[in-house]
Amino acid sequence: MPELPEVETVVNGLKPQITGARLVAVSNSGKNLRYPLPDFSTLLQQNIQTVERRAKYLLFHFEHGQTLIWHLGMTGQFHVLYRSEQVAKHEHVTLTFEDGQTLRYRDTRRFGYVGLCDTNSLAQHKWFTKLGVEPLLDDFSGDYLRDMLKTRKTSIKQAIMDNHIVVGVGNIYASESLFRAAIHPQRIASHLNKKEYQALVAHIRSVLAEAIEAGGSTISDFVKTDGKPGYFAYSFNVYGRADKPCLTCSKPIQKVVQGGRATFFCPQCQKRK
Ligand SMILES: [Zn+2]
Repeated sequence: MPELPEVETVVNGLKPQITGARLVAVSNSGKNLRYPLPDFSTLLQQNIQTVERRAKYLLFHFEHGQTLIWHLGMTGQFHVLYRSEQVAKHEHVTLTFEDGQTLRYRDTRRFGYVGLCDTNSLAQHKWFTKLGVEPLLDDFSGDYLRDMLKTRKTSIKQAIMDNHIVVGVGNIYASESLFRAAIHPQRIASHLNKKEYQALVAHIRSVLAEAIEAGGSTISDFVKTDGKPGYFAYSFNVYGRADKPCLTCSKPIQKVVQGGRATFFCPQCQKRK
């Protein structure tokens, strides 16, 4: 499933290609995605002002004041191709622009979904009202995290994966940032000290930023042909390394299941306290 860094990379890849483009036609395969597609007619003859990311949604802001909201689901991909290239299997939505380019949305499993909203009421849209802060923005700080978690009895790992608190910290990134911050993933979320909340925030940011940077070099895979969604080639310290030696202390990495998701950690470097 595309995670925050992958979505950010897709946005960065699309921006130079479709900013300013005027939409002239929209066609679809006739198959629904997760939900029925919106009526695109109010977007015709309108220009895309910019593309942004919020959580794992792509936001296509149009100059006349509407925003197309797009979630990639499990297997969604965008490809920018010329109009002359035939629509391929699994390309369920095609946006055609005045300059002859098309934006193809391919989604083999069709868990992706699309919505349309007035740009100035985006924050009130049902998909956004309950979302927490963006991890890469200043709102996400040690003080914020401490304040949000002060009564939480869940584990710290499940807490940082909770979208109501902070968005886009997926399973892999949660394990990796807890390792870097030397925090045991099963500790009670409210029991960390101030320095630990600060360290955790700093490491969540750096893990995500590094993944985005790693994605930048493979950008063509995401927005041109033959792209595969998924995790970037990115070296993990603990994720997927059960029983292998810790890269810091050589003790075997342990795997536990929390909230149905695998967690990897080093029992020596991440003490329970
Ligand atoms: Zn270790």
